[in-house]
Amino acid sequence: MSTTLQAIRGMNDILPADAELWEQFEETIRDWLRAYGYRPIRMPLVEPTPLFARAIGEVTDIVEKEMYSFEDSLNGEKLTLRPEGTASCVRAVLQHNMLYDGPKRLWYMGPMFRHERPQKGRYRQFHQVGVEALGFTGPDIDAEQIAMCARLWDDLGLEGIRLEINSLGQSEERARHRADLIAYLEQHQDQLDAEAKRRLHSNPLRILDTKNPAMQAMVEAAPKLMDFLGDESLGHFNGVQQTLKDLAIPYRINPRLVRGLDYYNLTVFEWVSDELGAQGTVCAGGRYDGLVAQLGGKPAPACGFAMGIERLLALWQDQGYKHETLAPDAYFVHQGAAAGRFAFRAAEALRSAGFAIHLHCGGGSFKSQMKKADASGAPVALIVGDDEAAENAVTVKELRAEAEQQRIGFDQLADHLGDIIFSMEDDDGSL
Ligand code: ATP
Ligand code: MG
Repeated sequence: MSTTLQAIRGMNDILPADAELWEQFEETIRDWLRAYGYRPIRMPLVEPTPLFARAIGEVTDIVEKEMYSFEDSLNGEKLTLRPEGTASCVRAVLQHNMLYDGPKRLWYMGPMFRHERPQKGRYRQFHQVGVEALGFTGPDIDAEQIAMCARLWDDLGLEGIRLEINSLGQSEERARHRADLIAYLEQHQDQLDAEAKRRLHSNPLRILDTKNPAMQAMVEAAPKLMDFLGDESLGHFNGVQQTLKDLAIPYRINPRLVRGLDYYNLTVFEWVSDELGAQGTVCAGGRYDGLVAQLGGKPAPACGFAMGIERLLALWQDQGYKHETLAPDAYFVHQGAAAGRFAFRAAEALRSAGFAIHLHCGGGSFKSQMKKADASGAPVALIVGDDEAAENAVTVKELRAEAEQQRIGFDQLADHLGDIIFSMEDDDGSL
């Protein structure tokens, strides 16, 4: 006997009731991005492995241990399922020379793959909305991206998502901080865990991001990058903060916010909810002015962020959002060969007139078809037997209201159905 096949651990099916919620979320997302002038871009799910090693950094969680990489069986090329979108997006922008006529605002949405331990809010295939602005230098675009997020939480009716920001300065400033930080960490060797020891010289900044409680007090007292920032970096950071203040968007400066990817500089930010347990970050991003050049392009500044869709949707539902399953406008019930052919034609005509029609397929008794009509949520059953078919007419039965059923000629059917649905919408005040 064969066992039933299962999806890969950490990769989830999104069943219809949830997929409808996803669609409603995606509609909001599209409207929101359009309101800020962002245009869509779609990149492949698979990229050459070196793209991520080069963009994200060799000594990062993602590149060290989270990537799904494999060799192309035909030519041995090293390939990776994308763990994030920024590297692919920048690769596409360079490949198609998209910055030749000025800055670009781009967005994408889709699955990302990371080989992590699956748990609530952490999956191996998860989904992000990614937003990237390329070619903009000033703090205005950073601030606008943060303000965009605030508006989205509002559009979705989400509450309690707080904003943390920090500045990572420029590479020379980070180099000076790094030297001081390494010296400090070396003085506290005895308190470092194995991972921190390993990272001491390769990526000491990431040690500040440790989740190990035993190291908290020590990292708390470590030299702060903020104290190493020069006037320009501080000016940029102040510019971002000024706009946030102007727009009355509350924020907290978190000097330990460093982000898990190497390519960030200056502004970094995260939006965090306390209602999601350990996986509370729903959105993260910042400036990555070095990445375009790092991937071989003419240097261009950039700023972007990514949201975890699963985490946002979990929050949306936890905070009481209920999506509606859209019922069809009518369910078509029919019996007999001539009736079946007529129903098919009538259903197509109604769809051409803009109605959503669920045509019964698969036969069955009149009674069982009526049960299905009821279960479909449709307000109306359209019924055809041989009598109606002979007359080119349909019996219209309202399923959610007291009303005489009526026999309506094919030519009047669309108008009649429209009247019923319009008066219903009137009744619940939804129009
Ligand atoms: P974390 O610290 O939670 O691992 P990260 O810093 O690795 O997050 P980013 O690479 O910044 O995450 O990705 C942006 C967002 O994508 C995160 O804030 C989160 O909402 C979401 N995300 C990241 N990894 C996962 C995952 N494995 N499953 C679900 N969502 C994820
Ligand atoms: Mg991670």
